[in-house]
Amino acid sequence: MNYAVHWFRRDLRLEDNHALYEAIESGLKVKCIFILDTNILSQLTENDKRVPFIYNRLEEIQNELKSIGSDLWVYVGKPLEILQKLTEDENLKMVFTNRDYEPYAQKRDKAVYELLEDNDISFKGFKDQVIFDKDEILTQNGTPYTVYSPYMRKWKATLELDQVNYLQEFKIELNKENFLTSNQPTFPTLEFIGFKETELPDLPLNLKNAEIKDYDEVRDIPSLDATTKIGTALRFGTFSIREAVKYAIKENETFLNELIWREFFMQILYHFPKVQNHAFRDKYEGIAWRNNEEDFKLWCEGKTGYPLVDAGMRELNATGFMHNRVRMITASFLVKDLLIDWRWGEAYFGQKLMDFDLSSNNGNWQWAAGTGTDAAPYFRIFNPASQQKKFDPDFKYIQKWVPEFGTEDYPNEIVDHKEARERCLTAYKKAISKFEI
Ligand SMILES: Cc1cc2nc3c(=O)[nH]c(=O)nc-3n(C[C@H](O)[C@H](O)[C@H](O)COP(=O)(O)OP(=O)(O)OC[C@H]3O[C@@H](n4cnc5c(N)ncnc54)[C@H](O)[C@@H]3O)c2cc1C
Repeated sequence: MNYAVHWFRRDLRLEDNHALYEAIESGLKVKCIFILDTNILSQLTENDKRVPFIYNRLEEIQNELKSIGSDLWVYVGKPLEILQKLTEDENLKMVFTNRDYEPYAQKRDKAVYELLEDNDISFKGFKDQVIFDKDEILTQNGTPYTVYSPYMRKWKATLELDQVNYLQEFKIELNKENFLTSNQPTFPTLEFIGFKETELPDLPLNLKNAEIKDYDEVRDIPSLDATTKIGTALRFGTFSIREAVKYAIKENETFLNELIWREFFMQILYHFPKVQNHAFRDKYEGIAWRNNEEDFKLWCEGKTGYPLVDAGMRELNATGFMHNRVRMITASFLVKDLLIDWRWGEAYFGQKLMDFDLSSNNGNWQWAAGTGTDAAPYFRIFNPASQQKKFDPDFKYIQKWVPEFGTEDYPNEIVDHKEARERCLTAYKKAISKFEI
């Protein structure tokens, strides 16, 4: 019997899933698959918490599909090789998937497209992880936006034009007739793929608890734990962005603006893939970083002697999450006070964050370093002490993560902020002076 494949990637849900919806609409029976991509897995450590997160979610999806007599086919290997194998079954007629805009994914999907085309199988990609695709929000000249505010205004104006359509739910009928019957596929154990069972951090979708109505007032205070923690769910697609945006429109505009930041950085990465390894603005490429490895280690471990920086790093190491305000402070401290290449910090966050997303991580690190799209001048340098007075005045967040703060066991400051600030300004000035006539 002819059938179609739905290939899950960053869309790990059976509700409001665009490509899955289209696969069912095709009228073919649908076989749901997921590929544990060894190109990616081989770069992770066995304690990585994101793999068990994905794994648990796959089990949930599998159970739901089993309840209607179907299944989730989970493969381990390189996507191209797995798909090559699947094409050997001549009943496979179409492959549906939701688009992914990262450079690795783009390259992979191009190769998959060619492979499937050679085998007369059509490969259909759909917009699902964003409200607006890479080319839907462009300037009047048809070029991508490189500044957030006009992008955000155009984003909102475009949504206004046809909100019902853009936010439409893709209702999935979990109906036996729509899916391929199971023939006992393999579902590798976590151990088999080289990862350890681990207690997953408490990262609920916190929309209700976060009292989104007051989001703009409370979001900057780390001790309140008042943000939504929706990042991981959006990263892996366990929650639909359309649902999140509907909620934001109803409840809080600042929250909506944050969701637009996410799409802004996605389209920056898509249109300017060089940012993955380089400064968005070339003139910041030549900074003479100190890159002191001992300082970097102390920063990673949360032992810099600056309590808010240390609290943030320890929260990250313990939970895979760090509050946004503290992400900004820790990033600024690494780049500006320690004069360590932003790419080192970006990579460390990339290993640790549950909600790690290449585009947002890169965009925000470049923002902190002053090398990115934002017009904020590089000489605006966070003072960690004043940030603490403003955002953790009662030391509540600090006490939670750095219990020895204020005792003899707490380390001295590894740099003097005032001197470090001057050192940073000199290094930046020197680098960009080469570009001045
Ligand atoms: C140095 C640095 C690195 C970062 N790395 C990542 C990352 O890898 N992945 C990631 O999703 N976010 C990243 N952020 C952005 C932001 O810190 C997180 O999205 C946010 O803290 C996640 O927690 P939340 O879901 O409770 O956020 P909320 O405040 O509840 O915001 C809701 C959602 O809006 C989006 N959002 C909020 N702020 C931003 C922002 N500044 N840029 C882009 N999207 C945003 C996210 O999808 C977030 O989940 C980074 C920020 C900094 C300063």
